[in-house]
Amino acid sequence: MIYAANFKTNHTRKSTENYIEDLQRHLLNKNSEDRVLIFPPLTALDNYEGDFTVGVQNAYPVNNGAFTGEVGLEQLAEFNINTILIGHSERRDILNESQEDVAKKFAFFKEQGFEIIYCIGESLEVREQGLEAVMEHLLSQFEGIDTTYEHFMVAYEPIWAIGTGRTASVEEITSTHDALKKVVNKPLLYGGSVKGANIAEIAAIENVDGVLVGGASLKTETFLELVLH
Ligand code: PEP
Repeated sequence: MIYAANFKTNHTRKSTENYIEDLQRHLLNKNSEDRVLIFPPLTALDNYEGDFTVGVQNAYPVNNGAFTGEVGLEQLAEFNINTILIGHSERRDILNESQEDVAKKFAFFKEQGFEIIYCIGESLEVREQGLEAVMEHLLSQFEGIDTTYEHFMVAYEPIWAIGTGRTASVEEITSTHDALKKVVNKPLLYGGSVKGANIAEIAAIENVDGVLVGGASLKTETFLELVLH
């Protein structure tokens, strides 16, 4: 299983350092085949070492240049970062990233050999129309994306389940992941209110290869409940 922690706009440099120190101590007990990825805010990047990978929640698809407020490859290289989240619904919906923007970012970081966790997900309105409509929407989010890229995984995150406490049902996750796996034969993560109380049933789903976690990743205790479940 892959366990990915998305801190979003939470944690400081100091609290991330404490978190990672604490996490690393406990990761000695994790299954050796499981992977842990941490996505802290950009200001908390550092040269961390341990049984986990640190990636970024976002970056601008340039080496460097005049892009006020953005961070490019040169700044990531300082911390040996080569893992990135692309296409998170908060960036698509709140920060207005279009599919074209997302695809451009994907192409740039693919060219650099980054590991890419590519997020897709539907609104409640689409979910209520049934699986066919959901799949049509999800497949549209692969437009311009090379789904055969070697260092590629997908995070399926229904928007209505993110940060809401409302998890997709086992049936919904199973049918969506089964359908996705037929199209993209890559690791598939589920994201959306994953927590200690539901990790066992989610992790047991055949085509769930991991989880992307927001809220429950913010404290080491609640994240470790997932990793060590
Ligand atoms: C996320 O936004 O990637 C996420 C899954 O958040 P949460 O776990 O809080 O629903």
